[in-house]
Amino acid sequence: MGGATLAAALAPSGRRIVILERGEKLEPSPEARSDVAIWGRGHYRPKELWLDGAGEAFNPGNYYYAGGNSKFYGAVLARYRAQDFSPMRHMGGTTPGWPISYDEIEPWYQTAEDFYQVRGALGQDPSEPAHSGRYNFPPVPDEPCIADFRARLTRAGVHPASLPLGVDIERWLAGGKTPWDAFPGCTEGKLDAETVGLANALQHPNVTLLTGAMVTRLVAGAAGIERVEFTRAGKAETISAPVVVLTAGAVNTAVLLLRSADAAHPTGLANSSDQVGRNFMNHNLSAVLAIHPLRVNTSVYQKTLMVNDFYLTGGPGGEPLGNIQLLGKISGPILQSDTPMPLALARWVSRHAIDVLAMSEDLPNPDSRVTLKEDQIVLDWQRSNWPAHLALVARLKAVLRKAGYPILLSKAFDRRTPSHQMGTARMGHDPRASVVNPYGQSHDLGNLYIADASVLPTSAAVNPALTIAALALRTADHILRGAT
Ligand SMILES: Cc1cc2nc3c(=O)[nH]c(=O)nc-3n(C[C@H](O)[C@H](O)[C@H](O)COP(=O)(O)OP(=O)(O)OC[C@H]3O[C@@H](n4cnc5c(N)ncnc54)[C@H](O)[C@@H]3O)c2cc1C
Repeated sequence: MGGATLAAALAPSGRRIVILERGEKLEPSPEARSDVAIWGRGHYRPKELWLDGAGEAFNPGNYYYAGGNSKFYGAVLARYRAQDFSPMRHMGGTTPGWPISYDEIEPWYQTAEDFYQVRGALGQDPSEPAHSGRYNFPPVPDEPCIADFRARLTRAGVHPASLPLGVDIERWLAGGKTPWDAFPGCTEGKLDAETVGLANALQHPNVTLLTGAMVTRLVAGAAGIERVEFTRAGKAETISAPVVVLTAGAVNTAVLLLRSADAAHPTGLANSSDQVGRNFMNHNLSAVLAIHPLRVNTSVYQKTLMVNDFYLTGGPGGEPLGNIQLLGKISGPILQSDTPMPLALARWVSRHAIDVLAMSEDLPNPDSRVTLKEDQIVLDWQRSNWPAHLALVARLKAVLRKAGYPILLSKAFDRRTPSHQMGTARMGHDPRASVVNPYGQSHDLGNLYIADASVLPTSAAVNPALTIAALALRTADHILRGAT
């Protein structure tokens, strides 16, 4: 999301841009719309194994294709709330605040929303930050069962709002009647880093995309990054450029910097602060299924509303609890892949359930980190703020009960799903406490920028992609203004 957006913003300048992407372009295939292939067989998952904090190997849900994780994303393109940029007291501690304010990032949010053609509506959400413009497209419509659910939530006393989404719903459904959340966007209905970001960048003759190009190491000299080493089709290659922007995602960006350690930088590149790999965050997420045994949910995609009544308050001392939004419609095979239910029961449950996601902020912690063990990736995610998440799930269940759903099932997402990974190369003014400055430029190496989820100082309780895109646009502007 960061890399493709940045490339698109730099491209009109005529500068020569080479994008090194380890994955290939996803092509349409029957698996792309198959819940059994995606959840049951893990068709698109990488072949690699990472270690968790206890040294146990796991296969991460981290995707390597042109367009990155956004190919699979739920396309929620939401802004952080204005309050998220200042220190905030949570049940699990106080967040540090950002080195930039909401007002500074707001124009970039607006540009990112325009660029990704976000569908949405203003004025429905009590926690909504100020917008300088409008959404250019109306929200993706609620399906009939979700319109009924929205009315029930309103009667239960909360304020449902349309989810801001990067989905052209007619084009998506023309490719198959499925949800889009966690299904890869191979047709053009999902507005993601490939169909929008890369597609725009590649319209310019000065932009080259090399797929299957696995970056292995950055080599630094006295003046900054001197060359980038990568392998392609089994061959080792190198490339040099006046400006190098690292956008491999929060885990792999940290890994590349750590792997590039040399005699002058023994703990890794851009790491004089010792912050590379630290402060790893990933939201606390739970699925909550609201079941009424006599009502069938006929929705295909479902994912059109959110509730932010507990975003800024709701804890025992008025602390923030998080965001509530709909999941893509869960099917029997999806449910069965993550529970011991027999398929017939899973199908019955999914037919009668509205599937809701509870998302709470994970606070930065230097001991929550990405490291290497003999070149294998170690992701030691130390969850934080868990009581706030439990309080959010309890609040949500109370609302759902009031809205007329007698059976409520909930399950926390696996700690091995790093879908909202961020924070491993955080931005800040102080070179002793951060990896990059507020424009994404390395404090240590002047021609090195980072423009992905790594730089986010806090996770808020909002899906991260729009914030990553907004920051990447800001970084591109900084590069173009000749700051190096
Ligand atoms: C199932 C799922 C649902 C999600 N839903 C949402 C949502 O609704 N809204 C939202 O905001 N976010 C969502 N996300 C998260 C969102 O996709 C990510 O936050 C976002 O894509 C991260 O952007 P990024 O630029 O940091 O990294 P990525 O988009 O992951 O891009 C990193 C890129 O670097 C490439 N790469 C990695 N290592 C190397 C290397 N060594 N050499 C060359 N290339 C390399 C990767 O292949 C990839 O293309 C979801 C994620 C998943 C998995």
